[in-house]
Amino acid sequence: MKLLEERILKDGVIKEGNILKVDSFINHQIDTSLLHDMCNEWKESFKGKRVTKVLTIEASGIAMGTMLAYSYNVPLVFAKKTKTLNLDGDLYQASVDSFTHKTTNTVVVSKKFLNKDDHVIIVDDFLANGCALRGLIEICNQAGAKVEGIGIVIEKGFQDGGRSIREMGYQLESLAIIDYMDYKTGKIIFRH
Ligand code: 5GP
Repeated sequence: MKLLEERILKDGVIKEGNILKVDSFINHQIDTSLLHDMCNEWKESFKGKRVTKVLTIEASGIAMGTMLAYSYNVPLVFAKKTKTLNLDGDLYQASVDSFTHKTTNTVVVSKKFLNKDDHVIIVDDFLANGCALRGLIEICNQAGAKVEGIGIVIEKGFQDGGRSIREMGYQLESLAIIDYMDYKTGKIIFRH
């Protein structure tokens, strides 16, 4: 998505350790007009799919998830992160390694909010190694819900998540794919 790529080049900040900061338009301050355009792109990509829920993970996915869910007129469900293993039988749960924080969280979704009749679009801000997405897919599998598609804002194509998720057979729509970035020079190369 050209508009997003231009914005990343203008306002994205590359940090050591392969982290891209997009705090001024996605992760802290949110450009709602850009978010709206991004949701339209996803809707075009997932045209014809039956969607009953949008699923994301707290916290960064909630804004884009809400806007997308609103446009489908369906609920947004977000997986909650907990530090402790919760053995409550009323929860679906999966283990997710955090790329940015180098910790492992258990993520949970109440069984009340996802079930075998659901057709789900999963969204998130970044795709790096794919741990967050695999956790959300695992939760859909536990619920018996069908994953209709996955929308990502920025995929870091030099990490392995995108390839592994596509190999699993999912329709993965990343609005920008970065094949190379260098914090020393600030250079970013997108995949087209
Ligand atoms: P994964 O689970 O695919 O390894 O990493 C994805 C998760 O880590 C996303 O939910 C995102 O919050 C965070 N993340 C991964 N890489 C970056 C990055 O370069 N910048 C930011 N801001 N978050 C990232």
